[in-house]
Formats: sequence, structure tokens, C-alpha cells
Amino acid sequence: MVLLAVGAIAGCGGSSMHASHDASAAAGPAASTAASSGAGASASPRRIELGRTAGGRPLVAIHAGDERSPPVLVVGAIHGNELAGVAVARALERIRAGADLWVVPELNPDGAARGTRQNGRGVDLNANWSSQWRGGGRPWDVYYPGPAPFSERETRIARALILRIRPHVTVWYHQHMDVVWAWGPSTSAGRRYARYAGMRLYHHRWLPGTAANWQNHQLPDSASFTVELPAGSLTTRALDRHVRAVLALAAHR
Ligand SMILES: [Zn+2]
Repeated sequence: MVLLAVGAIAGCGGSSMHASHDASAAAGPAASTAASSGAGASASPRRIELGRTAGGRPLVAIHAGDERSPPVLVVGAIHGNELAGVAVARALERIRAGADLWVVPELNPDGAARGTRQNGRGVDLNANWSSQWRGGGRPWDVYYPGPAPFSERETRIARALILRIRPHVTVWYHQHMDVVWAWGPSTSAGRRYARYAGMRLYHHRWLPGTAANWQNHQLPDSASFTVELPAGSLTTRALDRHVRAVLALAAHR
């Protein structure tokens, strides 16, 4: 339980938001809309570059599926040292399901390249959103929230994507608490995901500045929650369960 408490603080909690604009981010979804017009079920996946990180790495979304369904957004990783969810994202990219799937395999490629939780500027991207954002600390502190909400390109780009596609459900993968963390309007979707995936629901308020916190405030009719995968890589069986859990949620109107 001590582990859980540590994980919870370290973890992954909520999110917040700010109204700002990011030209590169705005361009991505717009481009995707144009590219996907007229698409129906089983349309071929499209790769959309949403923008670039401060380190120059592309932030990519894959849009696949049936646009007549409510959009579901999956983010494989936001912390660069918690990458197990990237496998779920990659598997979902390849699925021709009747869902409208938006997949961002890695929102923090600079951190992943360094093996750090933070991005390349030392900021915890899941503390950089504006809902209940709380400043303080310095770069490379474990939970450093940045100098201001949405100070980071990655969070601005993700915010622009979410506001553009307005996901019915957003799933954020983290590690390593081995729970589904949901709160507020996201609780029922989180509970369903936990049931599908065979995990425990951790019903706990969001932490300051987190992505899920932000979406819950900005789009209260939608759900956004955190899946804290166990440590290590997913087994084939677990990967399959998580893919099925996302698809089951997507099918739930
Ligand atoms: Zn995390």
C-alpha cells in the first residue's frame, strides 16, 4: 500500500487546461479532417504529424476506423520511462474496428529517448495542464509542472488534438500501479475498462495539472482516465485484454 501511495503521487493523475493556441497542433487535426473526409468503416489508417517536440521529434497520431462512431483517443505514453502502453497503442493502430480511433503512441518521445519521466526540458507533462495547475520546483524535479500551464509543446499539441476531435473517451497509459485510475465524470468509463481488462478501479481525485483532470473540466460529457499498467512489458495475453478493453469502450455509446 505504501507502494500504491508512492505511485499515486508519482503517478499519473489528473489534468488541467488553458485556452491557448499552437499553430502546429492546430494544423494536424485540420489536415486529418481533410484527409479523412468521406471515410467510413474500415478506412485505412492515416498517419498525421501533429507537430514536433522541443527536441525536434515528431508527435504523431494515427487515425483509424469509422468516423460515424464516437471518437476514442488512446495515448500510449506521456511519461518517458513508462512505455508499456505503447504496445497497446501500436496494436490498436493495426486494427480495423468499427470504432473511430485516434492513437498517439508516444506523447513524450524526447523523454523516451532519455529514459526519463519528464520531457527533454525536465517537465512532467502530466503536471503541465491547466486544471488545478500548481507551480513550483525546478526542471528535473520528479513532478516539475513547468513554468506555466501548457508551457510545453507536447501538452499544447495534445490539448489542440483533444479540443479538435472531442473524444468520447480518452485513455492515458502509465505505469506501474496496476490499477485503472478514474474520477468524476470518467468514473463509469474507467470502471468498465477495469472490468474488461481484469484490473482494479482506483477511484481517487485527480492530481493537479494532469491531462485527465483537464479533459474532465473542459469536456465534462466525455471521459478521460488513466490506466496504470504493471511494471515491465505486457504479456501477449495482457496486451490482448487491453486492446479488447479499448474496443469494448469504443463500442459503448
Ligand atoms: Zn505516469
